[in-house]
Amino acid sequence: MASENVQVLFPVNVPVAFDYACPPQMRVQLGEFVFAPIGKQVKLGVVTGFVENDNTRSLKEIISVKATRALSLDMLQFIDWTARYNCVSAGLVLRMVMSSYKALDPSPMVTQFRLADIFRENLQDQSSKDKSVQVQAIEGLIKAQKLTPSRLLILDKGGPFPARASEIAQRAGVSAGVVRGFEKIGGLIAETLPVDAPFDVPNLNLTGLNLSDSQRRAAENLRLQVAKHDFNVSLLDGVTGSGKTEVYFEAVAEALKLSENPDGKLGEMSGGQALVLVPEIALTQAGMARFAKRFGVEPAPWHSGLGEAARRRVWREVQNGRARLVVGARSALYLPFPNLRLIVVDEEHDTSYKQEEGVIYNARDMAVVRAMIAKHSVILASATPSLESLVNARNGRYAHIILPERPGAITLPEIDLVDLKDHKPAKGDFLSDPLIKATQAVLAKGEQAMLYLNRRGYAPLIICQNCGEKLKSPDTDSWLVEHRATGRAVCHMTGFSMRMPTMCPNCKTEDSLTAIGPGVERVAEEAARHFPNARIEILSSDTAGGAEALRARMSRMERGEIDILIGTQMVVKGHNFPHLTFVGVVDGDLSLVGGDPRAGERTYQTLVQVAGRAGRADKPGRALIQTHQPEHEALAALAAGDREMFISAELAIREMLGLPPFGKLAAVILSGPDYKKTENLAKKFVSLAPRADGIEIHGPSEPPIGRLRGLFRRRILVQAETGVNLSQYMKNWRSRAKVPAKYKLHIDIDPQSFL
Ligand code: ADP
Repeated sequence: MASENVQVLFPVNVPVAFDYACPPQMRVQLGEFVFAPIGKQVKLGVVTGFVENDNTRSLKEIISVKATRALSLDMLQFIDWTARYNCVSAGLVLRMVMSSYKALDPSPMVTQFRLADIFRENLQDQSSKDKSVQVQAIEGLIKAQKLTPSRLLILDKGGPFPARASEIAQRAGVSAGVVRGFEKIGGLIAETLPVDAPFDVPNLNLTGLNLSDSQRRAAENLRLQVAKHDFNVSLLDGVTGSGKTEVYFEAVAEALKLSENPDGKLGEMSGGQALVLVPEIALTQAGMARFAKRFGVEPAPWHSGLGEAARRRVWREVQNGRARLVVGARSALYLPFPNLRLIVVDEEHDTSYKQEEGVIYNARDMAVVRAMIAKHSVILASATPSLESLVNARNGRYAHIILPERPGAITLPEIDLVDLKDHKPAKGDFLSDPLIKATQAVLAKGEQAMLYLNRRGYAPLIICQNCGEKLKSPDTDSWLVEHRATGRAVCHMTGFSMRMPTMCPNCKTEDSLTAIGPGVERVAEEAARHFPNARIEILSSDTAGGAEALRARMSRMERGEIDILIGTQMVVKGHNFPHLTFVGVVDGDLSLVGGDPRAGERTYQTLVQVAGRAGRADKPGRALIQTHQPEHEALAALAAGDREMFISAELAIREMLGLPPFGKLAAVILSGPDYKKTENLAKKFVSLAPRADGIEIHGPSEPPIGRLRGLFRRRILVQAETGVNLSQYMKNWRSRAKVPAKYKLHIDIDPQSFL
């Protein structure tokens, strides 16, 4: 009798699913997790299809079905789409999806303690300051001799409850025995609870801020889009500080509210899920707190810094539909939401949505794909939308929702250029007179200034004054950067670092190494000279103490405890500093260099965003940009406050050159341990390119980073007309080539980095 064979995809680097026979008594469904033999091992994979058993092959059998919820059909399709579009194997995409194996099992259980009702009622909603007063008041409620000082400590400091005995004991500074003793007399109640606590359900009765008229119209538009229960994309295009977050909150509320699937089936998930993607460094406590305030509960967080326990908790709760609101970095897009109704991509222009390693994908573009498959809404939000999204909005493919102003009487900062040819900083300095004077003026008013320079460390180049040697990373084509705060020379490409040498490694001259150019540490040193009484701090990814210290520094800036903040791109994203009224850009030309066709766009976006930090509360803001190229279209448009001028100039160039969004790009990066062989391999690969209309191949060429971590690199750029299926073309091409062991060939569809 003909039966069906089962196709199983494994989370490993294989492009296709393997066929298995299904034992007679076993029932398997699409999307289920199953154990099956692969080679000598037994591995967990996912059922992706069924094929007719023609009895011509003897197949191995599936061993067992894992008792857990299956992946949805949408998710299977999304895995397949991601793999095909980005020219990677489906197995690797599945590996990205299966980011926590432990999440497939139920949460472990543990004994936890909560306060007896009598205390809970009395302590509820009291700030810790009032708690001891409350505790005194309830002393009468329990026999005095039983409420010993250590038990009082449990009431006062042991929470939040429920918690494990050890956690309560640690917070209260008592022994675990005291906790158990308190339970014996009924002060604490023991319960067996899941270690991975479920997420609280968002409170949809709460409302947001009072929106301005234009905000309300935008919010209503977005809400209606979500309520369509169908695929649609909106570009929320609002100037910095216009309240985009407040506006998309209303769409999120609508998505969470939906209680039925479009087909009317009501599963055990009784509400919609929403995902808000943000750039990883914008995932701050202050940002999360805004969600908590609006929806009454902490959203489920997802980012690369989550520990194993937090990861499995979020994954499991997302998959069973109980984590309703997730705020996360790009990889949150690959969480197995069964009932997703909305994805918001905040700061959609941000380059950090592109994953550059492993599965190379752009989360912004894949968010649109996911929504298309699962038939729901996407909101792309930005003050400086990518040209791709703008063109889609202008030709009607996306709804274009515009917020032209900041709410109330708050105005956008005025932006001026400082031509460094006319205003040369003093010898060895980097701040020009106009920048210094403007900073002085805001400090005199008791307001804050920010100096922006996207260069970590003290100086980007270390050179020997005697022989001209430049200090280079040992295995990578990248200069070592002096970090004076830590006394080290650091490679920013690979993280390699060494103690800052005192003599030149080439000519061995002592004290001959000199720092060339500015980094944030050096600008801070200079600022301390110009503004001796100011409280100056640096904000960069090198800030000692990690994420915690960074957050503390941002909070100090918010509270006005810093006068001048000197920052790298860390300061650009989504922060609100109410007392900041002046932004000085030390080097407006920095991102204009290099072979990136989007360099002008990136510069424009970054400078609008950084200037947009100024004047976000009631005081007007101002920005000055130091530049050698005031005539450059991106800078001229900034100074004129005329975005359209920049966009139309940039679009005209892109159209003429057939660059995105008027054409498609793909990059091929070949790398290997031998310089010549890598070059030959790249040439050979080009010679294998299938003939096709509308395709142009450039290269191979040596990229700016010709060697990375000891491997030599070559790049090929492929340019295609918009009608070409570039992914399919690249796949065909790739299948013609054999890549020897130790050599690698990566395909990058729509590259964002050209290094
Ligand atoms: P964007 O995301 O567009 O930069 P945000 O949503 O972060 O803007 O809003 C900027 C600031 O303005 C925030 O502090 C926000 O709370 C405040 N804000 C926005 N809209 C309103 C409003 N209608 N009333 C009061 N404050 C508002």
